[in-house]
Amino acid sequence: MSTGMNRETPHSDSTIPAAEAGGILTINLNALVANWLFLKSQAATAECAAVVKANAYGIGIEHAVPALLKAGCKTFFVALLSEAKRVRNITPDATIYVLNGLFADTETTYAAYNIRPVLGSIEELERWSLFCKHTGKKLPAALHIDTGMSRLGITPDDISTVAQSPLLESFELSLLMSHFVSSEEPDNQLNQRQIDCFENCRQLFPGIPASLSNSSGILLANAPTYDLLRPGYALYGGNPTPGKPNPMQEVVTLKGRIVQIRTVPAGTSIGYNSRWITDGEMRLATISIGYADGYPRSTSGTKDKHLANKPAGIAVVSGERCPFIGTVSMDLIIINITKIDPASVKVGDLVTLIGDGISVDDVGLSAGTNGYEVLTHLGKRYFRQYIGGDIDG
Ligand SMILES: *Cc1c(COP(=O)(O)O)cnc(C)c1O
Repeated sequence: MSTGMNRETPHSDSTIPAAEAGGILTINLNALVANWLFLKSQAATAECAAVVKANAYGIGIEHAVPALLKAGCKTFFVALLSEAKRVRNITPDATIYVLNGLFADTETTYAAYNIRPVLGSIEELERWSLFCKHTGKKLPAALHIDTGMSRLGITPDDISTVAQSPLLESFELSLLMSHFVSSEEPDNQLNQRQIDCFENCRQLFPGIPASLSNSSGILLANAPTYDLLRPGYALYGGNPTPGKPNPMQEVVTLKGRIVQIRTVPAGTSIGYNSRWITDGEMRLATISIGYADGYPRSTSGTKDKHLANKPAGIAVVSGERCPFIGTVSMDLIIINITKIDPASVKVGDLVTLIGDGISVDDVGLSAGTNGYEVLTHLGKRYFRQYIGGDIDG
């Protein structure tokens, strides 16, 4: 790692030279750290963890974790044991939890790497308990309580049985946790119901630390902070308060290269399957990014009534918002640059697909999905560069 560089100087370990890449992905680790500190500041006493599953929501575990460690983060959540091992490779001391639970025959790996499973069923609880009994070590694990997701976790019906179970005696119950269904909707009554349910279950486990809030949960007025916050999305710049101004700093910027510019007359068919026929003369720019880069095909620009129930994707070209025209291809996107002064745009220029007022939430909306999916699909063909974070100084 290059040390002694200015914290604002981008650095890269990309195997793709910038000049050969269709897109330039810039990840601002200083913004990541600022976001973590902001979320941490929302709770007076609770510890703030970081959820770094799915390669830290696409931005890169090996970059995000060192930056967060340096900022003081001590607890990390991932989905899978393979991700947990990557985190452990970076830090010998941090606490690491695996959300998706204890897969069969992985117990020894958990123990060897000092990684903690989040036990999500009685069957997993039994296996961890048995494993700890056999090894004679009271190894830590979290217990997931299902307060409404019906996905992972011990159901409230079973929780009092579990609370009295001798299975708890052979391991260290280090955390009780549950997960919000709709915390990004502050008026959703499910939030309070889940809080009440978690509160009731928690009473059965006196003295055990608890964790409930994801990114949006942290900003819910009625959610107790408990002992540990578990933000993911907001760390990476996603808006935890949809419909309100985003309190987070932008972490991800994506720029795409213009490879052609052309002017077409009225009646011209644009892109695959003629999803757009021009009404008048139009100036087009073709960008070297497509759905193979994880940029959603569903951001295509179409006049087709049953497909056009959401905004098309947008590129910012010299400060102006230019919509996608026609179908997004595997490797290319066509945009309408008619309103741009021809003197201010040329082949080779970079246009912005994320950043300059286009958030990951916006891209999610124009794709009929959410920003989480956009982030976690960020492609592998970009030239990737990082700002700040793990650089000394
Ligand atoms: C993904 C996840 C989180 C983080 O959620 P965000 O909405 O990204 O902040 C927290 N807890 C659990 C159980 C998760 O699966």
